Amino acid sequence: MFDITTFDIKYVPGIGPQRAALLNKELKIYSLYDFLYYFPYKYVDRSHLYKISEIDGNMPFIQLKGQILSFETLGEGRTRRLIAHFTDGTGIIDLVWFQGIKYILNSYKARQDYIVFGKPSVFGQRINVAHPDIDKVDDLTLSSMGMQPFYNTTERMKRSNLTSYMIEKLMHNAFNLLKEPLEETLSNRIIEKNKLIGINDALRFIHFPQTPAQLRNARYRLKFEELFFVQLNILRYVRDRQKKYLGYRFNRVGKIFNTFYQKNLPFQLTNAQMRVVREIRDDTRSGRQMNRLLQGDVGSGKTLVALLAMLLALDNGFQACIIAPTEILAAQHYETISKLLFGMDIQVELLMGSVKGKEREQILRDLQTGDVKILIGTHAIFEDTVNFSKLGIVIIDEQHRFGVAQRARMWTKSACPPHILVMTATPIPRTLAMTLYGDLDVSIIDELPPGRKPVKTIHVFDNHRNSLCNFIRGQIKSGRQVYMVYPLIKENEKLALKNLEDGYERVCKEFPEYKVCKVHGKLKPKEKDTEMQRFVNGETQIMVATTVIEVGVNVPNASVMVIENAERFGLSQLHQLRGRVGRGADQSYCVLVTSYKLSEDTRKRIEIMVQTNDGFEIAEADLKLRGPGDLKGTQQSGIAFDLKIADLSHDGQLLQYVRDVAEVFIDEDPNATLPENRVVWKQLAAMRKTNVNWSVIS
Ligand code: ADP
Ligand code: MG
Repeated sequence: MFDITTFDIKYVPGIGPQRAALLNKELKIYSLYDFLYYFPYKYVDRSHLYKISEIDGNMPFIQLKGQILSFETLGEGRTRRLIAHFTDGTGIIDLVWFQGIKYILNSYKARQDYIVFGKPSVFGQRINVAHPDIDKVDDLTLSSMGMQPFYNTTERMKRSNLTSYMIEKLMHNAFNLLKEPLEETLSNRIIEKNKLIGINDALRFIHFPQTPAQLRNARYRLKFEELFFVQLNILRYVRDRQKKYLGYRFNRVGKIFNTFYQKNLPFQLTNAQMRVVREIRDDTRSGRQMNRLLQGDVGSGKTLVALLAMLLALDNGFQACIIAPTEILAAQHYETISKLLFGMDIQVELLMGSVKGKEREQILRDLQTGDVKILIGTHAIFEDTVNFSKLGIVIIDEQHRFGVAQRARMWTKSACPPHILVMTATPIPRTLAMTLYGDLDVSIIDELPPGRKPVKTIHVFDNHRNSLCNFIRGQIKSGRQVYMVYPLIKENEKLALKNLEDGYERVCKEFPEYKVCKVHGKLKPKEKDTEMQRFVNGETQIMVATTVIEVGVNVPNASVMVIENAERFGLSQLHQLRGRVGRGADQSYCVLVTSYKLSEDTRKRIEIMVQTNDGFEIAEADLKLRGPGDLKGTQQSGIAFDLKIADLSHDGQLLQYVRDVAEVFIDEDPNATLPENRVVWKQLAAMRKTNVNWSVIS
């Protein structure tokens, strides 16, 4: 049978090997399936013909039917342009070309009927349409008079004439190849119950809708299908896991936990911390493997919860490990935890890329004998050379950089899969969490330790530097410390460093009476540590830094966070940075410095920051403003961002609904044996085969 998932696009008439190579490379389109699932990003209604007499310069796209009266070339060199005077009997407009003049003159003639399509603008007294699409009336078969699809293309594609219009034509050819209808991907029951249109109509209408209603139905069906399979994949994975694996039982709360709790714990747990510890306790003694996501705003005290969970493991004869995304953060965890465990005779070690030679060998050996009870580190822990004696729990900090796949790799480190607690300080909107971490149970710390005053956020234009300086001076006089952060400019690291250097010099001049330190990513770890340490000890009052301080640093005495060029930061980044202050008992401030001219988006970001300290609210806003693909650190997380048509920032309700449908589906057919569901399981298998991110979590 004709299988679109294996049919190479180079055999689609009009594509051929060269275009196929381009489509492979630029859009990762290999099979006919990939091509048919490459959806337009917008449509323009071509069902309506306008009259020239109706046009004004504010219209989006318009379509006219009429004749060219005459051609005229104007200007020289760069201003040279071709003008065609065009009429439909109700008026005259100018069609204008700045390029391809010869081609146009050869292709179109005066006194013939054409359909002209483009965006009108007013220039002087005349209305003109630059670079319009022109079709002869009789060869208007393509999407004629319906909605015209527009496809995203890359620069390289455009240069090879693989334009949106070309894709539209090739798409027609692709459909012509389908001699018989495609097999359904959803069961009849799901289709009927949810009033979905069939897959064949859906695909045809998504590319070539004749009416807005067709487009609506097609989009709904395809979004439904897409989210359904994502959820089905996750749910099936969860069920399999529960069937296949038992979890270690942490039956006891023993001496280690109790000693720590009674002797070492420096403060009372907040109610939220206590609740989460209880949830973890319940999970870890249930006999099932724990897979839990712990969300809590910066400063909410997740580290302590993690430590308590690890001590539970120790009490039951297991080892524990904690994985952080950066060496700085790992080192800080190591320090914090070593301090907290002071006097308790528990071997804690730090393992990361920079730990080498004898030291590393020793750690690896002690890990294998079980002498190391708690291992703290970075990705380095994932390496095959790292073997535990009896690993009971894995804590992953700052989860948003680890996808489902990486998580799964930790399982191979232990006979039974260890319990997994994933912690994130960037609150994740529900829709995203359900997709990215849909396999996890969720715990939330929604309460800050007592005595914290919410950080006050202020927006300052950079031409009001004087008052800013006075403010900073006042804070330092009363004993506080200050961060000043400059953006990291990825495309131009030199510039970023220069900004930082300039800033540093300016600050030194502005505050000759204070000591200023400087920290950035180019420093050697040793130098960085020294600088950080001086700030922590209070030897320096101002720290000028790039975003390296974003995660990790904990200096309760620092009460002011000044963010320079705040317009260059994303919302979640701003929020993370703000979380560096407000950790002590004093009133803290976050000052967002921007230039006077701001884009609409930036203005909104700044407004949200000034209005709220609630990380969840900010995460939702971030998702709305930027879409899921841009959320910080999400590049590697696959699944959620391979979505072709559903949009997690807008389709939350549908997602929730579809997840329920998928749950019922899998409950009714837990072993994938019902004949009526055969097509669904087959489709899932096909998707898992072609999508790397899907197959890794098997
Ligand atoms: P995060 O959730 O951002 O990882 P941390 O675990 O680093 O937060 O905790 C932030 C600060 O709050 C630390 O200095 C920690 O010692 C302190 N802290 C944590 N829990 C409590 C508590 N229950 N009472 C008072 N301070 C706490
Ligand atoms: Mg933390």
